Parts: sequence; structure tokens; C-alpha cells
Amino acid sequence: MHYNSFFEAQLQQLRDNGNYRVFADLERHKGAFPYATNRNGTDAREVTIWCSNDYLGMGQHPAVLNAMHKALDISGAGAGGTRNISGTTHNHVLLERELADLHDKEDALLFTSGYVSNWAALSTLASRMPDCLILSDALNHASMIEGIRHSRAQCQVWRHNDIAHLEELLAAQPLDRPKLIAFESVYSMDGDIAPIADICDLAERYNAMTYLDEVHAVGLYGPRGGGIAEREGLMDRITVIEGTLGKAFGVVGGYITSTAAICDFIRSFASGFIFTTALPPAVAAGAAASIQHLKASNAERELQRARVAEVRRKLSKAGIPHVENPSHIIPVMVGDPVKCKFISDTLMDEFGIYIQPINYPTVPKGTERLRITPSPVHSPEDVERLVAALGVLWTRCQLSRVSMAAE
Ligand SMILES: *Cc1c(COP(=O)(O)O)cnc(C)c1O
Repeated sequence: MHYNSFFEAQLQQLRDNGNYRVFADLERHKGAFPYATNRNGTDAREVTIWCSNDYLGMGQHPAVLNAMHKALDISGAGAGGTRNISGTTHNHVLLERELADLHDKEDALLFTSGYVSNWAALSTLASRMPDCLILSDALNHASMIEGIRHSRAQCQVWRHNDIAHLEELLAAQPLDRPKLIAFESVYSMDGDIAPIADICDLAERYNAMTYLDEVHAVGLYGPRGGGIAEREGLMDRITVIEGTLGKAFGVVGGYITSTAAICDFIRSFASGFIFTTALPPAVAAGAAASIQHLKASNAERELQRARVAEVRRKLSKAGIPHVENPSHIIPVMVGDPVKCKFISDTLMDEFGIYIQPINYPTVPKGTERLRITPSPVHSPEDVERLVAALGVLWTRCQLSRVSMAAE
């Protein structure tokens, strides 16, 4: 086998199918989010980012940056080891306390990312409970799917947010068989929200554990930013709540919160927790400051909600089709992979607007879209420019307009 030509041919196939990923080279400007410099070869231009998961702009918040600077000056760059071997700094201890308090749980456990937290926690729980059955929502994130697969436990997939289907699967099992229902609160591509209370009812009736990924909700929903389960008063009914420090909290890292026994169990058995260097103390300090700030402040959440409503209203007025959903995510539907990529490229080249196109396999074919995430750092003028640019490109691509009810 000629190794390199094998890899090149595989990449060419990706290109031919329109699935080859191109990353935008961005330099974000602290104090001026959502603006950034985009470089392409020797070209550099100023762009407005409209697809960031730093949903509230906390990545530039003075409280976060001050905490990070301070920890950097006190403790230096890296943690110096795995959590077990000299890597548990005081900042990690404080952050885990902050997280347990956020979700009103006995304990919390930090990981290097949300992906790792899902992968490690689900694979450890499901592989170590004898004869465990996992019931997984059909639209669960890749990190959950990989964790479940790695556990080698039996897995049944229930139709997305379909409570009747979940109940059918649960009812077919012996009551005393260990079962784990894995799902998300806000699903990030459609922006829809799971019926968490109904799922908790079923879990209680059929003696199942619940594992909830609140990655796209922490910091954003609930009076203290504890997520959808906090908003709906359901945190105490969920066995494990998982989240990220990399999206609304604006830093990086992942975590689970649960009972002391479950956190201790995963701490003691999860390879993905044990055998990797701990997050830098400055990262832990920044994340803790971000959580603390958002526990006490609603200003960012309120401004974000207002901005989301404004973008929706203006898109509807311009007849640009977007999915109505109860979250902060606005999927603008293009429904064609070539046009979707063309609109994204042209927004960048002609209008200085950056929105990554979302094509298959991330979403089903025929539902190609631009996923817009308005934030408190977008101004009303940014919104005007966005909708005007989309209007021009909608006409140029001969895409149909829709009449949508004004909100
Ligand atoms: C982004 C994401 C993750 C992974 O979190 P990271 O901190 O980015 O690794 C997990 N679950 C869902 C649903 C996500 O969208």
C-alpha cells in the first residue's frame, strides 16, 4: 500500500462529496467581540462572527480575564500533572465546588473538555454496571455516542424527543435491570428542547438513571445559569448533569455533577479522567469566575434573549426561512449544500460576516443550514447588516422566501 496516496484519495473523496472541512483563521479582538480578523494567505480582513458558541461573550469578560491573569501570576502555566499526581491545584478544588453548587448536587468532577466528560462518564458507568442498558436519544452528540460505544453495553436508540417510544423500550425491560437514559436539554442544530420532566417521570416509573447533557444550556437558562433543568426545577430528579466550560462560560473544560458516590466512582474508574494532565489552574480560575458571575447576573442572559428575538423578527420580516424553536439557536434553512457553502463564502468575502455552513453529515441531507447564534455582544447595527446581507444573497441564489408570523 502506498500510504500517502491512500490518505490523499480519501480526502479527495470528501472534497468531491462537499464534506471537506475548511477552517476560518480568526483572531478575536478582546473588548471588541464579536469582531475578529480573518486571515487567508496574505489577506487580512475584519469580520463579524455570527456562529460562536461563546454565547454570552464571557471569553472577554473582565472578571474572567482578571481571574485568569491572577492565577497565572500565582501558579504559572500548567497544572504539572494528572489530577492524581500533583495536578490537583486549589483552583480545581474551588471550581468543582462551584459546579456542584451550580447544579445543587453533592459533588462535581472536572474533565479537560465536555467531549471527554461525556465519553469518560458514559463509558465508565455503562461498562461497570452489570448488564446495563443505555437508552440514547437519536440526536445525541458524537461524544455521548462514542462513550456509549466504548462501554460495549447494549444500547437502544429512541426517536428524538419521543416519550412514547422511550416508554415502549423501557416497559419491555425487567424493572431491576440497570438502565441509563442519555439525552440533551437543548439540541444544538435545531435548537429544540427535550421534555425533561416527562423523561424523569419515566425514569422513576421504570427504575432508570438519567444522564443529561446541558452543554448548550449552562450559563444561559435558569435563574443562576444552571441550565434548562434548573429553570424547570428538575435538577434534583436528574442523576448526572453534564456540562461544558467552553461555550457560554467562555473558557474550556467539561464536567459532570451528581451524587458524591457517582462522582467518586467515575473519579476512581474513568481512564479519560485519570490518565491525562489536569487543566491549567488559570483556566480553572477563569471558569470559576465566569460561573460565579453568571450565577449572580441576569444582564447577559436578558440581552442575549433580546438580541435573539430581534434577529428572528428581522429575518421573518425579510421572509428568510428560519426554524422557530424555544432556544437561542437560529437555524436559517438553505436546504442545498452548494448554495449553503456559497452563501457562507460570500458572506465572508463580500460582507465581512462569518457563519460556518452546516452540511451533511452534521445535519440530514436537504436540511443544510446556517446556524446563527446572536449574543449580547452583537449590536443592533450588526443585526441590520446581517439580515440585509442575507436578503441580497437569498435573491442572488434564487431561494424562496416565506411569510412568517411576526413574533
Ligand atoms: C460541544 C458539545 C459537547 C462537547 O463539549 P466541549 O467542551 O466542546 O468538548 C458535548 N455535548 C454537546 C451536545 C456539544 O454540543
